[in-house]
Amino acid sequence: AKSQGGGKVVFYTEALSEAVTRKLEMEQALRRALEQDELRLHYQPQVNAQTQQIVGAEALIRWQPKSGAMISPAAFIPIAEETGLIVPIGEWVIRTACIQALQWFGEGLGAFQISVNVSSRQFQETDFAAGVLRIVEETGLPPDRLVLEITESIAIQDEGDAIVKLLAIKNAGIQIAMDDFGTGYSSLGVLKRIRVDKLKIDQTFVRDIGGNEEQATIVEAILAMASSLKLEVIAEGVETADQYQFLRSRGCGWIQGYYFSRPLPADQFGHAYVRKR
Ligand code: C2E
Ligand code: CA
Ligand code: CA
Ligand code: CA
Repeated sequence: AKSQGGGKVVFYTEALSEAVTRKLEMEQALRRALEQDELRLHYQPQVNAQTQQIVGAEALIRWQPKSGAMISPAAFIPIAEETGLIVPIGEWVIRTACIQALQWFGEGLGAFQISVNVSSRQFQETDFAAGVLRIVEETGLPPDRLVLEITESIAIQDEGDAIVKLLAIKNAGIQIAMDDFGTGYSSLGVLKRIRVDKLKIDQTFVRDIGGNEEQATIVEAILAMASSLKLEVIAEGVETADQYQFLRSRGCGWIQGYYFSRPLPADQFGHAYVRKR
């Protein structure tokens, strides 16, 4: 407010309040979405690279407003994180995915794990681990059927705290996957200290298989490391037969990507992979 030109002050104030207003509107809309059942989970199959049998699925959130087009997570997860709404949304995701997986088990789906994404903001909550354990207990899902996908960023703020929470989760039998592996900092160090069960090779590395020698070398190095650490590896973003063959021939265990299937609404997933049998 210490400007010589009054007009300038008004301009900045308006621009600022406009941004704040837009964020508030988005926050309210998102809160309403959660209350009025506008959030959905889509499920993308994960297949065994050797047998091509379905072994799991990743739950991916979608926002379908009562009117209008579907909104992708990239557009609203950051706002959910900023406002803290990711905490109730994240709980909804875990609960919904557990209930869905149980239903599919009841319909005859065999060995199968359901994966859910956990954002760092959500993980930072003091009672995060207790909350997950409570949901698993309440729904009755066998804990070893649930996989939490975390990213390296959970260990940035307070690694000791992260390890304590992960231990509580792992001791209950729930599995942990390191998502987007290779895109963060100090990947190896974090992997050694945080004992994850699975590692997901980020799609940026998968994308260039067949075209880019260097990227293929990175994928091979990740596979070799994972094998020595006895970690299950999932390659994500697999889109072509060449990428699939490359990964399979080099011992990648699980495959996820458009080459097999896009993420599907629950009913379509059921028709394609459960009731078909
Ligand atoms: P992510 O966890 O890395 O999920 C993989 C993304 O890649 C998904 O995008 C998926 O639809 C997309 N994908 C799968 N196969 C292919 C492929 O073959 N090619 C290409 N180009 N893309 C593929 P989506 O569903 O838009 O999700 C984007 C991100 O939003 C996710 O990235 C994740 O970070 C976040 N997200 C999604 N659902 C949730 C959630 O329930 N909670 C939280 N905290 N984050 C979520
Ligand atoms: Ca993920
Ligand atoms: Ca990922
Ligand atoms: Ca990602």
